[in-house]
Amino acid sequence: MIPSNIKALILDMDGVIWKGDAPIGDLPATFKRIRERGLKFVFATNNGTKTPEEYQKRLAEFGVEISPEQVVTSALGIAFMLAQKFPRGTKIFMIGEDGIRVALEEKGFEILSTENAPVAQAVVMGIDRSISFQKVAEATLLVRAGIPFYTTNTDRTFPTPRGEIPGSGSWLSVITSATGVEPIVAGKPFPYLMELALEKLGTKKEETLVVGDRLETDIAAGQSVGCLTAFVLSGVSKLEEAKDWNPNIIADSLAALVA
Ligand SMILES: [Mg+2]
Repeated sequence: MIPSNIKALILDMDGVIWKGDAPIGDLPATFKRIRERGLKFVFATNNGTKTPEEYQKRLAEFGVEISPEQVVTSALGIAFMLAQKFPRGTKIFMIGEDGIRVALEEKGFEILSTENAPVAQAVVMGIDRSISFQKVAEATLLVRAGIPFYTTNTDRTFPTPRGEIPGSGSWLSVITSATGVEPIVAGKPFPYLMELALEKLGTKKEETLVVGDRLETDIAAGQSVGCLTAFVLSGVSKLEEAKDWNPNIIADSLAALVA
């Protein structure tokens, strides 16, 4: 099913590897098969709250050994994107959690406290479970003053065991509503996370297959950088929606794709 010129896979996680707390299929066997076929792989997720090490641990619990280097998140994606645009030492006002903070600090950016927000040269927004009126007010003032505005992802909701809660995109809508400004987005369907994944893999876009369960994020992101795309039916999007997006391959699951 996978064309012979493909050397690497960029894999989404939720809906491809697991669904909620349950693995999809026999993951150790699937990854044994991927390794037997000589395919490199990285995981790419819009979820920026967890670190690569946390994903490594979760996969290990499912019997799949990977290195943290094989995980790219929207937090790493936004740091990668900003490092292409701004020099080290740039002052950033951030609404977000440790995942984004650590990724930005590793690129040499200075993260400002809310009190020092007025001197920011860029505003970065991700999910922040200690968001406050003051943080949103400072971000709004900066964006209205023309300071460049970035976000990890625009996913409106975030899955929890009890259901969906407001995601990054819902909080973002407060600022876009107050400013009339749309941010630049690091996560899927935009290309930055895919570019970071390709850099980690060291493969060309023509040799890399992007695998995902959401047409409007995963498949669109793969297409945005010129990779081949594989849509798997183990997650959110439905088969009848695929014609609008033209993925190169459609498979029941990752296991079926690499069989
Ligand atoms: Mg998914």
